[in-house]
Amino acid sequence: MKADAELALQKDLARHLRAGHPWVFRRAVERAPKGLPAGSIVDVTDAGRFVARGYYDPHSAISVRILTRDAAEAVDAAFWRRRVARALALRRELVHGTNAFRMVHGESDGLPGVVADRYDRWAVLKLYSAGLTPHRAAVVEAIHAEAEGLAGVYGRDEIPRADLDEAGEAGAPQGRVLWGGEPPERIPVDEHGMALLVDVRRGQKTGHFLDQRENRRMVRDLSRGRAQALNLFSYTGGFSVAAALGGGRQVVSVDLDGDALALARENFAANGLDPSAHAFAEEDAFEILARFKREGRRFDLVVCDPPAFAKSQRTVDAAVAGYASLNRAALAVLSPGGLLVTASCSARVSAEQFFDAVKEAAFKARVELQLVAETRQPPDHPVSPQFREGRYLKCLVLRRVS
Ligand code: SAH
Repeated sequence: MKADAELALQKDLARHLRAGHPWVFRRAVERAPKGLPAGSIVDVTDAGRFVARGYYDPHSAISVRILTRDAAEAVDAAFWRRRVARALALRRELVHGTNAFRMVHGESDGLPGVVADRYDRWAVLKLYSAGLTPHRAAVVEAIHAEAEGLAGVYGRDEIPRADLDEAGEAGAPQGRVLWGGEPPERIPVDEHGMALLVDVRRGQKTGHFLDQRENRRMVRDLSRGRAQALNLFSYTGGFSVAAALGGGRQVVSVDLDGDALALARENFAANGLDPSAHAFAEEDAFEILARFKREGRRFDLVVCDPPAFAKSQRTVDAAVAGYASLNRAALAVLSPGGLLVTASCSARVSAEQFFDAVKEAAFKARVELQLVAETRQPPDHPVSPQFREGRYLKCLVLRRVS
C-alpha cells in the first residue's frame, strides 16, 4: 500500500489533474474523509481508477496537492530526494552569476507548497501547507543531502495558524534552524556583482525577493545617465542600489517597512555607496507620489514593484484599477525621456490585463510611452505549463517620449 487513504473525485473532475494540474480542490472531492490527518498520503481516484497521489490538507481549500501521477512511485525519503535533486539540476544548468537563488519553486518543481531559497551557504525553507509538516524532516534531509556546501537550513513556514493541529510536530514555531548552524544576522550575498545583505529571520518572505534579480540587473544597465531615480516599494533597496551603481546620483527609496529601509541603507554602504547621498522614505507610495507631483519633483527613472494587489479572484478588477492608478501617479513624476520599470506579481492579473492597466495610466496621465522591454520570471522560478498560476511575474520597461 503506497497511500494512507483513497479519495474519490466527483464525476468529470479528473481531467485537469490528468493534464498535469497539481491541485485537488475540496469541492471536487466526493466525500471528505473524516479524521484523516494533515499530511496523509492519498490516492485520488476517478470512478475507481488511480489518477494521482498527493498529500492531504484538511484545512485548506486545496484538499490534496499532487506529488506524483505514477501509481508505482512511493512518497518516501527517496522521493523527496529525487525531486529536490531534479530542482537543483535546473539551477546548476541555468542560474549563474549569483549565490542567491530559489532552489525549489513549489508546484512548478513538482514539490507543491515547498519553497526553498538559497543565500550563499544557507537555505531558507518555507512550507505553505499544514499537509507538509509531517514531511518536513524528509524535505530538509533531501535539501542538505543534495545541495553542495550548505551550512544550515532555516525554516520559516507560511501556514495559517488556524491550520496547525494542536498536537505534534505541526505546531512548529515560525523561524528556527532545521539543520546545521544558526545563520548570521545578515547573510551577505552576491547578485551579479551587487552585494546585498539578507535578514532571513525578520525579513519579508524568506528575506529577499529573488524573482526580481534579473530585473535588478537590467535596471543597473538602464540607469546610465539617469541621475534622479525613485524606487517605490523598495523593500531593502535592491533596485535602489542597482540604480545607484548604474549611474543614479540620488535614489529615493520608499517603503512602509522601516526595518527594510534600515537594511537598504546598509546595502548602499555594502556596495561602497554613501547612503547619506540618497533618500529613504518610510511612507505610503501613493502619498509620496502625490506630494512629489505637487512639489514638481521629477525623476529620470521610476521603479514600481508593489506587493500583489489581487489576493483572490474576486479582487482582480480592483487590482487592475489599482495598477492603473498607481502607474498613472508614477508617470506624473517621470521626466520626458525617463524610464518607468513597473511590475506586477499578482498571479490572477494576466500580462494583458497589466499591460492594459499601464496603457490606461498613460492615457489618463497624458503621456506618450514606448515599451522598450518586457520580462517575466527568471529560470529559478520556472513555470509548469499545466500550472498557469505559477506564471505570476510581469515587468514592463516604458520610456516616456513626451
Ligand atoms: N522591489 C523589492 C520588493 C518589493 S516587495 C525588491 O526588489 O526587493 C513589496 C514592498 O512593498 C514591501 O517591502 C512592503 O513593505 C512594501 N509596501 C506595501 N505597501 C506599501 C505602500 N502602500 N507604500 C509603500 N510601500 C509599501
